Amino acid sequence: MADLTRQYDVLVVGGGNAALCAAISARREGASVLVLEGAPKFYRGGNTRHTRNFRCAHDSATETLTGPYSEEEFFDDLLRITGGHTDEKIARHVIHESKEVLGWLGEQGVRFQPSLGGTLTLGRTNAFFLGGGRAMLNALYRTAEDLGIDILYDTPVTALDIQDGMFLSATATRGSETTTVKARTLVAAAGGFESNIEWMKEYWGPAADSFLCGCTPYIRGTVLKLSLNAGVHEVGVPTQCHAVGIDARAP
Ligand SMILES: Cc1cc2nc3c(=O)[nH]c(=O)nc-3n(C[C@H](O)[C@H](O)[C@H](O)COP(=O)(O)OP(=O)(O)OC[C@H]3O[C@@H](n4cnc5c(N)ncnc54)[C@H](O)[C@@H]3O)c2cc1C
Repeated sequence: MADLTRQYDVLVVGGGNAALCAAISARREGASVLVLEGAPKFYRGGNTRHTRNFRCAHDSATETLTGPYSEEEFFDDLLRITGGHTDEKIARHVIHESKEVLGWLGEQGVRFQPSLGGTLTLGRTNAFFLGGGRAMLNALYRTAEDLGIDILYDTPVTALDIQDGMFLSATATRGSETTTVKARTLVAAAGGFESNIEWMKEYWGPAADSFLCGCTPYIRGTVLKLSLNAGVHEVGVPTQCHAVGIDARAP
């Protein structure tokens, strides 16, 4: 049972795959973990809900992937779709680590299937979640609960107290009440800002007014903005995840 008066080892803000993977990893290392998900339970999981597959490097075919996909080929593909706009250090790190993800997710109860009809070109490179993104999330949430991770829904974080680079506390809002939540470590995994059209305009200009957002309305970049305002260092390319997402869905 979540207890907002206690100090957890790790506070995870967000409820998508990044948040759940971080929460499960921390809990498996023995940490006490609280997850604060801003969305209601039915809509939990942010844009992860909409995903079907993820791209991962692997040395040989698996039960569901038709052949090898080397780290070098993955990096070349990334350079191609981003037109060279990528942070090589982060990209190579993510690509290298992606080799472990398939097995690790399987250990957390996530199941995979061969690529769907009509997406045959992805059958070698992309691992498809059996049942889609929501099924993957359900498996991760089930594992998190079984491990004793405390989870609160409908509880967006609306402020962060970070001083001299040190996280002190977060303000969580439940209905009309706000609570100060303390933890030794903060994992900010609250997604991007795709449903925040005003912020999107900073990158896409007035054209963003006509965007039809196919994503969850619960990611408005609040935690991202709070972190940046607190002096957190920005890395990577702001809209790059879009390019990867589009590539992953292309036939
Ligand atoms: C339609 C669609 C299809 C896609 N398909 C694919 C695909 O097949 N393969 C692929 O690799 N990528 C795909 N993507 C991209 C992918 O969804 C994202 O890259 C991924 O979900 C990011 O994961 P995340 O955990 O960082 O964020 P998210 O999954 O977006 O999760 C963010 C979480 O933070 C929570 N949150 C937000 N604000 C707060 C707050 N203030 N306090 C507390 N919680 C908060 C949200 O409720 C949510 O639970 C797709 C995207 C879309 C929109």
